[in-house]
Amino acid sequence: MARDHANESAPRPNLKDHGREALREHFARDGLPAYRADQVLSWLYGRGVDDIEAMTDLPAQLRDRLAGTWDTRALEIGEVQVSLDGTRKIVLRTRDGEVIESVLIPEERRNTLCVSTQIGCPLACSFCATGKMGMVRNLTVAEIVDQLMRAREVLPEGDLISNIVFMGMGEPLLNLAAVKEAIRIFTDPRYLAMAPRRITVSTSGVVPQIRPLLEIGPINLAVSLHATTDEVRDELVPLNKRFPLDILLGALRDEELISRKRPVFFEYTLMAGTNDSLEDARRLPRLLEGIPGKVNLIPMNPHPDASYQPPSSEVCDAFAAEVHASGLRVTLRRNRGRDIDAACGQLAARGQTRRSAPATDSQD
Ligand code: SF4
Repeated sequence: MARDHANESAPRPNLKDHGREALREHFARDGLPAYRADQVLSWLYGRGVDDIEAMTDLPAQLRDRLAGTWDTRALEIGEVQVSLDGTRKIVLRTRDGEVIESVLIPEERRNTLCVSTQIGCPLACSFCATGKMGMVRNLTVAEIVDQLMRAREVLPEGDLISNIVFMGMGEPLLNLAAVKEAIRIFTDPRYLAMAPRRITVSTSGVVPQIRPLLEIGPINLAVSLHATTDEVRDELVPLNKRFPLDILLGALRDEELISRKRPVFFEYTLMAGTNDSLEDARRLPRLLEGIPGKVNLIPMNPHPDASYQPPSSEVCDAFAAEVHASGLRVTLRRNRGRDIDAACGQLAARGQTRRSAPATDSQD
């Protein structure tokens, strides 16, 4: 069992806030040899054991010392909602009483976990439920990593999470240091050993942080585009006023780390009467010319916080066909988890009391 420090006033450091190098440095400062950090990380990630007392290859005295200094769990599961299509929304509680959500998407040959990086989001995209919450705070590294560890507990035994997408609550590139350290932990070959190619980080277009993100390794970049003119994108993604289309797409065009082998995934949410015209479909390939990329079309997921609606399936098909005719790679994504508000843009911890809510709360 994990130790319960919920009533202690000052938060304690969490072992999961550090990748291997950082934890070795911490331990060295405390006079502990580097291999002790490796042993601890093997327990945390290799075996999924959070209880320091159960780390039996550590001397008892060291276990007591570590247990008196460090926390190991950052999140507890509040509730798991299962969609008709098998998608699971995992509602998680932080140590300070906040609520976040992850989404687990089982498919035939893979299990994808969509993780959150912030509580709320400061970017206030007009179609997004998270944006309506405003910004509460960045998640810590441990809170990002623990989303994976808790999701593993939800999967049937023996099943693994094969893919991670940073597309949950928040803008990952506004919490870049934590996102990068979490990716280091996910991809460390000694522990969770996820292939960087199976990790995708999505941004609404925080241009100065794109290069620093790509430098971490061959992970995938997704860009939430959603419009083909500045006028419409200013309304949908207000960050566009700071980094308009020519700046964002120009930066991607000039980025040496983007190539045909490492293309950009452009996310484009189709909203009826807003960005779904054939003119948009013709403008899109011209805008993206010179950027190795692929377009994912996602029909809008309606929710009570926004008035946008999905176009008819005929309009979606016609839009996709027009983009396809240009030679651009395009997919029309099937929505997952719409019935439990787990689809893109729907995450908002709706119905959850932020502080001190009991674990049995239900969502609307
Ligand atoms: S779409 Fe992403 S960046 Fe925009 S408000 Fe929602 S969470 Fe934030």
